[in-house]
Amino acid sequence: MSDFDYDLFVIGGGSGGVRAARVAAGETGAKVALAEEDRYGGTCVIRGCVPKKLMVFASEYSTVAEDAKGYGWSIEAGSFDWGSFQQRLNAELDRLEGIYRNLLKNSGVTSYDARAKVKDAHTVELSTGETITAKHILIATGGRPVRPEIPNADLGLVSDDIFHLETLPKSILIVGGGYIACEFACILNGLGVEVTQYYRGAQILRGFDEQARGLIAESMIENGVRLHCGTDILEMRRATAEDLEGKASAGVSMGASMQEMLADHSGGTPGEGPIFVKGTNGDVKVYDQVFFATGRAPNTDDMGLEEAGVKLGRKGEIVVDDYSATAVPSIYAIGDVTDRVNLTPVAIREGMAFVETVFKDNPTKVDHELIPSAVFTQPEFGTIGLSEEEAAEQEPIEVYATSFRPMQTAFAGRPDRVMMKLVVSKATRKVLGCHIVAPNAGEMIQLAGIAVKMGATKEDFDRTVAVHPTMAEEMVTMRNPVRTA
Ligand SMILES: Cc1cc2nc3c(=O)[nH]c(=O)nc-3n(C[C@H](O)[C@H](O)[C@H](O)COP(=O)(O)OP(=O)(O)OC[C@H]3O[C@@H](n4cnc5c(N)ncnc54)[C@H](O)[C@@H]3O)c2cc1C
Repeated sequence: MSDFDYDLFVIGGGSGGVRAARVAAGETGAKVALAEEDRYGGTCVIRGCVPKKLMVFASEYSTVAEDAKGYGWSIEAGSFDWGSFQQRLNAELDRLEGIYRNLLKNSGVTSYDARAKVKDAHTVELSTGETITAKHILIATGGRPVRPEIPNADLGLVSDDIFHLETLPKSILIVGGGYIACEFACILNGLGVEVTQYYRGAQILRGFDEQARGLIAESMIENGVRLHCGTDILEMRRATAEDLEGKASAGVSMGASMQEMLADHSGGTPGEGPIFVKGTNGDVKVYDQVFFATGRAPNTDDMGLEEAGVKLGRKGEIVVDDYSATAVPSIYAIGDVTDRVNLTPVAIREGMAFVETVFKDNPTKVDHELIPSAVFTQPEFGTIGLSEEEAAEQEPIEVYATSFRPMQTAFAGRPDRVMMKLVVSKATRKVLGCHIVAPNAGEMIQLAGIAVKMGATKEDFDRTVAVHPTMAEEMVTMRNPVRTA
């Protein structure tokens, strides 16, 4: 008989926490409780992957009518109704949250709708005032978006806010060059918003394959995103009527919606309204909204962690070993709060490995090598393994790559290009990296990822018969390297 209230107390009902709690309870019979301070499902379900992907789908319909004309259809493009989409989106998120709650309940997990903090190695305190003891505590509190430290940054939105906008802005400045910034630039551009993107680095999507980054940036610009790399905000503040009128009469570069904003502004709600931005590139412009996608921070503030002996890293992330154990033997941490690889399937894997290790007597390290992932830009990007640049630093390589106009959109008269690329070790012939920029590249990389993870060689790819006519067939038909390094 345990001396504790529970065998496991999980803090955070997101991707990692819910999985760990329900597997521990459902498969090992452990007595498990979980606290969630907001909505069940966490970032992925409520304000990340899921609503974002639904917005990607919504935005992709913008070109359907035009493309269909190329195929002989006479379809007139209609307009996008944000309100109706948002209503359906919210209903879907409610449904998913209900599923998450039920998964916990049906596995026998006790849920507390409360904020939890750690009191000591075996005790948590809830915002309801309750104090609960557990043999093990699992921290799965995820992360949150952060604004840059510049004056008036609080005027800007972060990714959590985007899903709750009452109206879609006519113009927006997106600040950042990571995957969230680029995805929302494409989404909002597709939904008809005039999108400007500032990124202080030389090229978007830092850390990914250079060639892929270049093609995505080019395509985004071609599709209408006003992308400015090497650019940051110099000054930002609420626009005054004078700004609006002055700029209008001086003919300074302004959004198409300026006259309407002038009209809106006169009767605008106090504390809301257009934002004046001066860029380091000299641009002066007024935007309906500014959106910071400039980074995320782990949710470890005011959690009692350091007081309990848990070590935090420089960014506030929980420092864990290969088994997700913290410096306190009874406390583990998984998912974004540990800032290892911040993706939903990784948080889930870490949760499962934790249960294996702690509740199934089967010490299991999480394998963070060769994780396939996707960036849902338009065009989409699927990637696994080393970029050409990383691989070339490691060993001699051959690069097989092709870029072409895919049949479907080329026939419709669109200039879109796709790219397929394999980075191959000269010594072992293993495919070290696979990079795909193409519609549905996320779907393709999931499957190509199996081969790469298995250690497939270039010759294994070559032995596979092509599926014709597809874009992905190029993956098995590239005969000669375009470069060696
Ligand atoms: C805009 C956006 C798009 C994304 N797109 C993708 C994608 O396409 N693919 C992908 O794989 N990943 C994507 N991600 C990342 C993914 O959402 C995260 O990696 C994943 O949700 C991490 O899961 P987690 O369990 O670590 O944390 P979370 O899902 O963030 O869950 C943590 C939970 O803990 C709760 N919590 C925090 N503190 C406390 C406390 N003290 N007490 C009680 N509860 C607390 C929070 O309310 C939250 O519900 C995206 C993220 C964002 C922001």
